[in-house]
Amino acid sequence: MRLTKRATSRMAVTVAVAVALVAASPPASAAPGAAGQLGAAPKTPTARGYGGAVSTVDPTATAVGLEVLRRGGNAVDAAVAAAATLGVTEPFSAGIGGGGFLVYYDAGSRRVHTVDGRESAPASIREDSFVDPATGTAYPFQQARVSGLSVGVPGTLMTWQEALRRWGSRPLAAALAPAVEVAERGFAVDPTFRQQVAENAAAFAQFDATRKLYLPGGQPPAVGTTLRNRDLADTYRQIARSGVDVFYTGPIGADLVAAVRRPPVATDPAVPWQFPIQAGGMTRADLARYELRFPAPTRSDYRGYQVYGMSTPSSGGVAVGEALNILERFDLSKLTVTEALHHYLEASALAFADRNRYVADGTSRRILGELLDDRYAAERACRLDPARAAPKPVPPGDPDGRYGDCATAAAGAEANPGRSTTNLTVADRWGNVVEYTLTIEQTGGNAMVVPGRGFLLNNELTDFTFAQTPGAAPDPNLPGPGKRPRSSMSPTIVLDDGRPFLALGTPGGATIITTVLQILVNRIDLGMSLPQALAAPRASQRNSAAPQAEPAFVAAYGGALGALGHPAFAVTAELGAATAIEFTGRHGLLASAEPVRRGGGAAGVVQPGRWAASG
Ligand code: GLU
Repeated sequence: MRLTKRATSRMAVTVAVAVALVAASPPASAAPGAAGQLGAAPKTPTARGYGGAVSTVDPTATAVGLEVLRRGGNAVDAAVAAAATLGVTEPFSAGIGGGGFLVYYDAGSRRVHTVDGRESAPASIREDSFVDPATGTAYPFQQARVSGLSVGVPGTLMTWQEALRRWGSRPLAAALAPAVEVAERGFAVDPTFRQQVAENAAAFAQFDATRKLYLPGGQPPAVGTTLRNRDLADTYRQIARSGVDVFYTGPIGADLVAAVRRPPVATDPAVPWQFPIQAGGMTRADLARYELRFPAPTRSDYRGYQVYGMSTPSSGGVAVGEALNILERFDLSKLTVTEALHHYLEASALAFADRNRYVADGTSRRILGELLDDRYAAERACRLDPARAAPKPVPPGDPDGRYGDCATAAAGAEANPGRSTTNLTVADRWGNVVEYTLTIEQTGGNAMVVPGRGFLLNNELTDFTFAQTPGAAPDPNLPGPGKRPRSSMSPTIVLDDGRPFLALGTPGGATIITTVLQILVNRIDLGMSLPQALAAPRASQRNSAAPQAEPAFVAAYGGALGALGHPAFAVTAELGAATAIEFTGRHGLLASAEPVRRGGGAAGVVQPGRWAASG
């Protein structure tokens, strides 16, 4: 019901977007009845058909992406247009103030490419930048977050530009046009949006520009009211006109750097904030120096499929891949669901032990290769007892290129599960696929809207480990100049004999890894359809004595898993907000989004239609 309301409330916007798309497109490519097509924007989490598909958390973004596909744009054109729209309608999770990772399957060459648009640390950062000199201990998380210190150089805009240049068919200006229209005309506030403001009200109140935009009259905007962001419309227009240089070396960047170096704190915040708001050291040179990276994707072969993911600085591809390699040692399809989930939780813990110990920006190719080696997985799998959960934390292995022994060492557990970020999945009629996870880290980023520019800044640098734990193994994720904080984002494309089978991703901080893994296990091993695999209750074991699980998971499996030795689950309302597309053969597409979590998502196809499907 919530989903229906949300979609309905945004209908006016989708029609406005149709107008923008008509205006932005050359007459030759104008399709008849665009507004009507957008009127048929997806309102459900599941769509079946042909000719291209889009799945995002937001009906407006999905409608924009679908319209680009209908007008002959390809998956990259549609993904960037949808992402730019999410920068307006989901500003607390995504936008040009942040970063992300894009995985692209190119149908022509049948190759998978990745873009690392992760934020990078400024040259001035030090290993102890998040340690309070007054106390010698790490800053409290909220103090580090709501500051200039936490802001990394954003990579999102450059990701859009470069993805379009390499694989798109439209210029950036065309991809931004629908989002400009949404920002200009406004969109209806839904319950999720309002709740995200309410949760951030104290932090947002500290900054005039944020307060003006998101706390009208000092309060979170009421559900159903229209929210406009004319500053962001102007920012997008300037970028459309002049290119990304206005951001990386021009006036928009100058404003961004000014906000980081002199946080635009409100003189009368009304709501108290318990911490001093510190300045950051980012300079215009840091911004001008930003570069995308294009690492080779990670690859893990799993039960005949080829699973491609994101390499460092994300730990997602390595951790998902290692866990799959461990699980492949066991035939989950022959087990009861509880037994299969036991294996999933144990494999997650083993992979997390290695991820925490070894994986960060700068991890050597040798170690990454080792962690994804089947022989290494065999070694790790000897620690998975099919009948009994191991005490947590389990130690990391020893990726030394020698096999046979079960390694011994100690490892800690991952904190900060996170709830921000957004994910989108797009496929086009030619078979190209985009899986894209983007974020500003926490929901609401660092809470600073750049004055006059309409977008929030990220707090991505809080994904670094704040301080080395005394006596523990060296942490690979300490801050460093130009370094990118370790991520868990796991945009994943699964091929079957070189052709797309499945693309998926999700937000959720470190739980991203386990949610992607669980959906893969649900779909590939447990016989669920894709919509069932997304809807199924989730658990997340990140090598902790207090694994998390949703209430429905605890109700269904908590007792039986407890009997296998699993510790009591810490109940958490929701894990993740996934989007996915399955390629069902003969050009059939099954687009899937969350039915309930985070207010429900929106999946759509260009040409709805039925095919004989598993889902
Ligand atoms: N910053 C997190 C990461 O890169 C994502 C945050 C979230 O999903 O909540 O892993």
